[in-house]
Amino acid sequence: MSIDLHVHTKASDGLYSPADIVQMAGSAGVSVLGIADHDTVNGIDEAMSAASEKGLELIPGVEINSYNGDAEYHILGYFLDHKNSDLLRALEELRAARIRRMHGIISKLGLIGITVSPQEILALAESGTVGRPHIAQVLVRKGYAASIREAFDRYIGEGKPAYAPRSKLTPVEAIRIITSAGGLAALAHPGLWHGDELIPQLAAWGIVGIEVYSPDNTAEQVARYRDTARSLGLISIGGSDFHGWGDPARNTIGMAATPPEEFARLRDMARRERRHGPRE
Ligand code: AMP
Ligand code: ZN
Ligand code: FE
Ligand code: FE
Repeated sequence: MSIDLHVHTKASDGLYSPADIVQMAGSAGVSVLGIADHDTVNGIDEAMSAASEKGLELIPGVEINSYNGDAEYHILGYFLDHKNSDLLRALEELRAARIRRMHGIISKLGLIGITVSPQEILALAESGTVGRPHIAQVLVRKGYAASIREAFDRYIGEGKPAYAPRSKLTPVEAIRIITSAGGLAALAHPGLWHGDELIPQLAAWGIVGIEVYSPDNTAEQVARYRDTARSLGLISIGGSDFHGWGDPARNTIGMAATPPEEFARLRDMARRERRHGPRE
């Protein structure tokens, strides 16, 4: 049985509904599942009821992107009160900023002769958080790219002609959104970017863990981040960052997992937090 604390659903840019994800997690031998959708907790209720039917433990979570200058940091939040009104308001604002950004990307695509309508993208996202993967899927569907990856590589990835930046929330703001809702913050897939020097500062700002076990970290990085976590007293968490696309042999639910003793630390901390209230 494994503990996968980083999975996306249709509530953001994942391909499967929260109930389907719970089903898939159960079949993959996952016993504890953390749903961490981008800028939304709208998939949590559906996932929770599906999980209680299946006997899985569901951890309410979120993933909020932030920037320190140009360096990107994805902040995970766990055990948060997903009904907290300040949290819901902050996430709604982030989603609105993503829609403004989508229009920016559409304009830039227009400049290179590619016509995509907002309606096509929004229809694909249904009512979930809009992300570049939705735009990439439309580009694939219309024949501008052969795969989601190619759409990023040619058009909408960072530094490509139709790239537009996301709203520039700082890491400390992202951490505060999570901790103010009673959640515990952690740094996602640090291996994806080169910003390790900020990790001690992130810890001072309130992260309690880093995602050591991630398909986005190389084996060398896993070893290094485990050491970093130990030396800073942070919890070593793990998750697949499953979205539902890509090669099923390489990206499945449960393929990266949190060690049980590390999860126990996280859960104990959440219980203490609940007893004493948020630290701030
Ligand atoms: P966004 O949040 O709209 O900036 O989109 C970021 C999402 O796109 C991430 O969650 C990744 O899963 C996905 N992504 C980023 N870069 C790539 C890439 N080069 N190929 C495929 N997916 C990517
Ligand atoms: Zn995503
Ligand atoms: Fe991420
Ligand atoms: Fe993610």
